[in-house]
Amino acid sequence: MTKGTYWLEHAWLGTYVEPGVTVEVADGRIAAVRTGTPTPPPGAEVLRGLTLPGLANAHSHAFHRALRGTVQVGSGTFWTWREVMYSVADRLTPETYQALARAVYAEMALAGITCVGEFHYVHHAPGGTPYADPNAMGEALIAAAAEAGIRITLLDTCYLSAGFGEPPTAHQQRFSDGSAEAWAERCAVLKERDHARIGAAIHSVRAVPAGQLATVARWAEERRAPLHVHLSEQTAENDACLAAHGRTPTRLLADHGVLGPRTTGVHNTHLTDEDITLLGDSGTGTCMCPTTERDLADGIGPAVALQRAGSPLSLGSDSHAVVDVLEEARAMELNERLRTRTRGHWTAAALLRAATADGHAALGWDDAGAIEPGALADLTTIALDSVRTAGTLPRLGAETAVFAASAADVRHTVVGGRHVVRDGVHTLVPHVPQALAAAVEALRG
Ligand SMILES: [Zn+2]
Repeated sequence: MTKGTYWLEHAWLGTYVEPGVTVEVADGRIAAVRTGTPTPPPGAEVLRGLTLPGLANAHSHAFHRALRGTVQVGSGTFWTWREVMYSVADRLTPETYQALARAVYAEMALAGITCVGEFHYVHHAPGGTPYADPNAMGEALIAAAAEAGIRITLLDTCYLSAGFGEPPTAHQQRFSDGSAEAWAERCAVLKERDHARIGAAIHSVRAVPAGQLATVARWAEERRAPLHVHLSEQTAENDACLAAHGRTPTRLLADHGVLGPRTTGVHNTHLTDEDITLLGDSGTGTCMCPTTERDLADGIGPAVALQRAGSPLSLGSDSHAVVDVLEEARAMELNERLRTRTRGHWTAAALLRAATADGHAALGWDDAGAIEPGALADLTTIALDSVRTAGTLPRLGAETAVFAASAADVRHTVVGGRHVVRDGVHTLVPHVPQALAAAVEALRG
């Protein structure tokens, strides 16, 4: 149903929880929001629990889901983990990637995620040969999101080099278009759809030579499209950038016109004070991925300082060690508590804002992430009667959502007025666990 009436037992309206809210939907958008409706109007779809705007997962690499639970034994670093990740990337085809992404995006829908930012760089066949359709892999991801009933921003990623002045490795050849110009030409063919918007990404300052950064930035600027970049996730990247260019990755991006309000730095973990000022003053966003950052032993980024400097925050599940945006929001606050030994760096409402409105804005969906007239009718309902949430106070629903609930408590997910998850069951993808298992098994070969 892309039109009709929903009745929300409790609704988070941005700063507070309102009981008994009726939402009218027309053409996939919220046409009216009526408070003071203690009982459901006749014919309304009833959403029991606490309804939030749909959650945005601002940073995803869908294929990393195939690694879950398989890369935890033994010691190592981000760089040893990356070798295992590349071995999965080697085996992807448009068909196997679509099947895996469909299942991963269905898992996201079950976790209340209504929009994903897919940071996509596996473009070509192994060895770097283009497919007959050079965008076959990106199209597979867009189709997978449609099959799973969620929105996608395909952040088509420019990835040209292994490091400063180094050609791509054998694994990385399928990521590379050869030049930023060739990347731009390929991406220009991608079409937006009702459920899909197109953005750009610079994989990192390691992967795009400094002289080609502006080409990607200009492509995004001309389209007013979001532009994402992995930034200072690892100190080794900072050291190599300083050695090659005599400046930090953030300064390098600033000097080549990459920063700005439609740009999002992903991770932003190891920054100088000047970096933080550059990001804040330019309005560049920060996407924190706390469950991945802790899984990969990256470190804790300065999210409080970044936000204070003017960098809006969003959240992503990145490697999908966990797919739970509520956990990402909680982890951002809890990381700060561990680091500072003080509590209360963000309110629950501020954390939910990162998970909803600001996450959508980072993905180019400024018209999503709020329960208000004119917004896309994307809703996520959290159960307030599960073993985790029972006994909490509905009027403190934001606290419950962030600090008590998990993805397992998502009862309904509505995207554009369409009920994609009803009572915890995906309405479009049957047997999501089996779909995930089969798609991962197919990649094991
Ligand atoms: Zn990433």
